[in-house]
Amino acid sequence: MNATEKALVLKVGRFKEADCWVRLLTPTRGVFNGFAFGGSRSRRRFVGCLDPLSHVLFTIGSSKRGEYIVLEEGSLLHNFPEIRKDSVRTGVAVNCVKFIEAIEVDPGDSGPAYSLLLETLRMLEEADGNLEFVPWLFRAKLAFDMGYQPDFLTCGTCGKGVGNEIGYHFAVEKGQVVCPTCLSGGKPLEGLARPISGGALRALDWIQQSRPADWVKVAMDREVRRQCSQLIELFVAYHLGLSWENGMFRKV
Ligand SMILES: [Zn+2]
Repeated sequence: MNATEKALVLKVGRFKEADCWVRLLTPTRGVFNGFAFGGSRSRRRFVGCLDPLSHVLFTIGSSKRGEYIVLEEGSLLHNFPEIRKDSVRTGVAVNCVKFIEAIEVDPGDSGPAYSLLLETLRMLEEADGNLEFVPWLFRAKLAFDMGYQPDFLTCGTCGKGVGNEIGYHFAVEKGQVVCPTCLSGGKPLEGLARPISGGALRALDWIQQSRPADWVKVAMDREVRRQCSQLIELFVAYHLGLSWENGMFRKV
């Protein structure tokens, strides 16, 4: 049976003479491959749809015996021309797409992953601000949207709100803040923990609540930024099992 669904095209490859395979992300199916038979030749069925980063409404069916997914036709919704024209924006978009592919989004998490990637592409299409933070904000936000939701504003041990005193730590495995008073109580921290300032904890809370449209407006103190990005990479490595090395995400 055929179904119609919106999708973001992550990757396209050719096989045989005119056929294509397409890696897609949709809001209900996660990341999967579909085949567009005759796709590279068809002038009518896939106009402008078979390019990475395209947002497309696909009619999706399956092969006769149901072994694989077939893309019957597509209508292009948006192809993000400004992202394609600009190498910096293209690089940021590709980085986000690679991350989505690396975490192997399954159908249960596909709604948040799809919305976040689509909003990020819309933001990149219109952005004229600083895009330097976008890749790590995307990784953090996706981890949060997939259910890792630490409370950055409260000590996980005593429940006191985070203030401006020095000596806070964040315990990565537990996803909890530990305040200086609890730390001075002598109970050793379990597992991986990092010292972090109150300002950086408030910035992490902001990231958790933010949407991609907010990301180009953000101004962050250098030290806050350093602490946040380090913690986010640890957090992603621990909870999603990935790290960024030499231009690729690796399973850790
Ligand atoms: Zn405490």
